[in-house]
Amino acid sequence: MNRLQIVLAIGFLFSLTQANFAEDPPKKDPRKKGPPTIKALMITGGGYHDYKNQKKILSEGIGKRINIEWTIVLENPKRGALPDVYKKDTWADGFDVIVHNECFASYSDAKQIEKIVKAHTDKGLGSVMIHCAMHTFRNTKSKAWDNLVGVESRRHGPHFPFIVKNLETKDPIMKGFPKRWKTPKGELYHTKIIKSATALGLGFKEGNEEKTKQVCIWKNEFNKARTFGTTIGHYNEAMKEKVYLDLVTRGLLWSIKKLDKDGKPLKGYEKTAKKPTSTRFRVVHENGDVWEFADASALIKSGIYLGENNCKCPCEENAK
Ligand SMILES: [Zn+2]
Repeated sequence: MNRLQIVLAIGFLFSLTQANFAEDPPKKDPRKKGPPTIKALMITGGGYHDYKNQKKILSEGIGKRINIEWTIVLENPKRGALPDVYKKDTWADGFDVIVHNECFASYSDAKQIEKIVKAHTDKGLGSVMIHCAMHTFRNTKSKAWDNLVGVESRRHGPHFPFIVKNLETKDPIMKGFPKRWKTPKGELYHTKIIKSATALGLGFKEGNEEKTKQVCIWKNEFNKARTFGTTIGHYNEAMKEKVYLDLVTRGLLWSIKKLDKDGKPLKGYEKTAKKPTSTRFRVVHENGDVWEFADASALIKSGIYLGENNCKCPCEENAK
């Protein structure tokens, strides 16, 4: 094959492959298949905490650890008002997990709160409950939110850094969590764990365990929904800790059944899983070799094709 023929052959293959791609519906293209992505909704806001920065700490921290796509809603409704996010019946559609880092303590309409809980349980959504989520809807007559959360909590104690003791070192959520960890700063919630939940971590003031101990990490199953909860998270300093972000990531994965028995993400969900690049150009050589390129620039960079009047084909070089 002389130089001109090679140029023409490559030119022809370009148009052929591009035409084929145009006709293929994307969902049938196996080259577009990548690792799965977790779709997460973070609901945050409500005052008393630095939610503006916490949404960043959590979404970026978890995002560095697993394949996750965030939708974040930050709202500061009037005291006692229902946040807009819950007003649409379809608010939870399309998500695998809801991260509640919110503080909507004064809203109390029992019917509406039960509807919000039902959105989790009907679809078997995963939930991550952080800090003031446990005081959210605390003045309602309904028990539905507590049943979803896994603990009852109405108040907190004084602020101090506290020790967190790992109660279930063999539980996948607690694998990798130290036997004892001291939070840099803290506000320990008073909690009463409910029957369906399992306590995973106990918080207390150093040197005064018996008098100050409170369950501060747990997991819960309610109807079809799984919840991971922790009351740690008043201060950004604690939230930024590697121990904390690792823990919340494992809890999130457990809530959607994507955590393995060793406390690692199921295959494909870990951040190191690389999405295969889709091939947009395929060059079929005369000897049957097939070369694929993700895009035009990769193809040009390879040196195989520099335009119809400037062919520098490695096939020629190889043939020498
Ligand atoms: Zn707080």
